[in-house]
Amino acid sequence: MRFQDRAVLVTGGGSGIGREVCLAAAAEGARVAVGDLDAARAETVAAAIRGRGGEAQAFRLDVTDPASVTAFVEGAETALGRLDVLVNSAGIREIVSVLDLSLEEWRRVLDVNMTGTFLPSQAFARRLVAQGRTGQIVNLASTLGLMAAPNRAAYTASKHGVVGLTKEMALELGERGIRVNAVAPGVIRTPMTERYFQDPEMSATIRGIHAMNRCGEPPDIARAILFLAEEGNGFMTGSVLTVDGGWTTGKKM
Ligand code: NAP
Repeated sequence: MRFQDRAVLVTGGGSGIGREVCLAAAAEGARVAVGDLDAARAETVAAAIRGRGGEAQAFRLDVTDPASVTAFVEGAETALGRLDVLVNSAGIREIVSVLDLSLEEWRRVLDVNMTGTFLPSQAFARRLVAQGRTGQIVNLASTLGLMAAPNRAAYTASKHGVVGLTKEMALELGERGIRVNAVAPGVIRTPMTERYFQDPEMSATIRGIHAMNRCGEPPDIARAILFLAEEGNGFMTGSVLTVDGGWTTGKKM
């Protein structure tokens, strides 16, 4: 078991990709801290892990609030006895034209996706550095951290920011044995994207942008995240691993 007794912290762990990472890490022996804005959802995931004989603790977490982030990292360390891996999965997105995007929505999306990746990463890395310990951070970027799609200006800007932050933190923390990587998923079926799948025409269009003519499922991304986080993968840092069914490979003609 690759994560036996390792402490894995997941933001946005109550839903979608974050939830799947919590369950997959626990299945490989990890002790898990499930952080989510929705405390009840986080507790449901933690209870599912405990129900399978694993160890997990739920936390109400707002990744945009420094005090909440500190409480999460310190609480996780107390509950799990150590810190090893942080997965930044909390995220939101808008669907509105750049002409109509309000300043309030722009700020909210950047706050959750970009600042909400920076704050937990900084708090986590500070604890590791203070203890002289190594660790791994995996960020959720997106194909829209590498290119653009219509009506997602704030989301696209925020995910490009996540890619930049990943590289910056990898560079600054590499010597200390803290690896920082990101995954860039294509469209994955989760509560964030569920609306696409309710409309057959939209669903076919979204499938069609991927070379494989299908969308991904949360385990497709959880597998890649655990690959980036595993200890044996010790020379990989500052990378953005694209897991997008070929979406960014090229345009179909
Ligand atoms: P999801 O199912 O909506 O899960 C995201 C979770 O983050 C939700 O539980 C959400 O709570 C929580 N959250 C939102 N704001 C938060 C905050 N301020 N503090 C703490 N938690 C907060 O979405 P997902 O599809 O799993 O996405 C996970 C990550 O993958 C996101 O960063 C997303 O941008 C990225 N991603 C997703 C896809 C995709 O196609 N699904 C593709 C590329 C990248 P609420 O529901 O209460 O807001």
